[in-house]
Amino acid sequence: MANVRLEDIKRRFNNVTAIENITFEIPDGEFWVLVGPSGCGKSTILRTIAGLETATSGKLYIGDRLVNNIPARQRDVAMVFQNYALYPHMSVAQNIGFGLEMRKVDRKIIQERVMNVARSLSLDHLLDRKPKQLSGGQQQRVALGRAIAREPQVFLLDEPLSNLDAQLRDDTRAELKQLHQELGITTIYVTHDQVEAMTLADKIVVLNRGRIQQIGDPQTIYASPANQMVATFLGSPPMNILPAIYQNNSFDVSGQLLAIPADVKEKLQLRQGHSYDLGIRPEHIKINTDSEQAEQQLSDNSTQNSELLLVEVKVVEPLGRETLIRAGLPGSAVMLNIQVGGDVRLRPGDRLSLQLDLNQLFVFDPKTGDRIL
Ligand code: ATP
Repeated sequence: MANVRLEDIKRRFNNVTAIENITFEIPDGEFWVLVGPSGCGKSTILRTIAGLETATSGKLYIGDRLVNNIPARQRDVAMVFQNYALYPHMSVAQNIGFGLEMRKVDRKIIQERVMNVARSLSLDHLLDRKPKQLSGGQQQRVALGRAIAREPQVFLLDEPLSNLDAQLRDDTRAELKQLHQELGITTIYVTHDQVEAMTLADKIVVLNRGRIQQIGDPQTIYASPANQMVATFLGSPPMNILPAIYQNNSFDVSGQLLAIPADVKEKLQLRQGHSYDLGIRPEHIKINTDSEQAEQQLSDNSTQNSELLLVEVKVVEPLGRETLIRAGLPGSAVMLNIQVGGDVRLRPGDRLSLQLDLNQLFVFDPKTGDRIL
């Protein structure tokens, strides 16, 4: 096992900078997830650590060893890819033991290790099968098994669950987490799926356009995102963003005036007439479903400001325990995601007034995406 340290790593492809200023240190035994939208550079970072790419500049350490010039096979890392890349003519046992076979490890030790790994991944009854006789989930476990059997210092996993169906992905994700708890091998996991990032990681590295946006544990990143990109990327449904203009102690949100409590205002240095993006998570919005009352409340309050917004329901998605609502601000293209209890009955066209918990409000600079509050 080993820690992994990246110091100012940069990778250019001709005139494209895929990643830059990549600096972090993963302590021995931790599970870190690199997450971000397609093209943000996560696979490039992982492949650079594996030795499948060469950094244009910067230093990369595995343990105390500077490995920039060490070839992939001598780095003592094992990588698992999205397409399992199993050898079709080999049995499960041969696939799992392949890395050891290549290293000319003693046959008896190989057998023993293959058996142990197969048992821990519930593959021991499938050892004689060929890959095409296995389900997708079983094939993925064989690929993991092949990596585990090598007993590497570091695991590198590149979207290993994305070929599995939803149920299997959830199950395998939980197995992976348990396996890491048992083995304690330093693991770096790449995904664009924020649920995988939140559920698996000791620490998440959020990337965008080749640069690190934030590093932190899942709860901290969710509760205190560094900028609008991080705020809207992590969380499902995502944080709502409302463009607003600040004037006379309130935010003008598409013509509706949202009053700002004094304590919230104190924390912000808002400037008259300036535009801001307001961020509010779906769970911090309460609804009033009595539409007549909603309209009344709003017309009563519209001149003196309120903490309410009037919206019209566009889409209703019942999920059993809860229902997701997509609702629009009248006369505007701005849409909000709202979570309500599964017993709440709503239909497209219904009007609601929303009470925002303004103590949970985030404020962003619309030009830079930087967080103000
Ligand atoms: P995805 O989730 O779609 O796999 P990613 O976050 O893993 O995306 P990378 O594959 O690391 O992103 O790519 C980062 C950037 O570098 C992209 O803009 C990509 O087009 C570019 N890139 C990656 N490999 C090469 C290459 N061999 N030649 C040129 N550009 C490349």
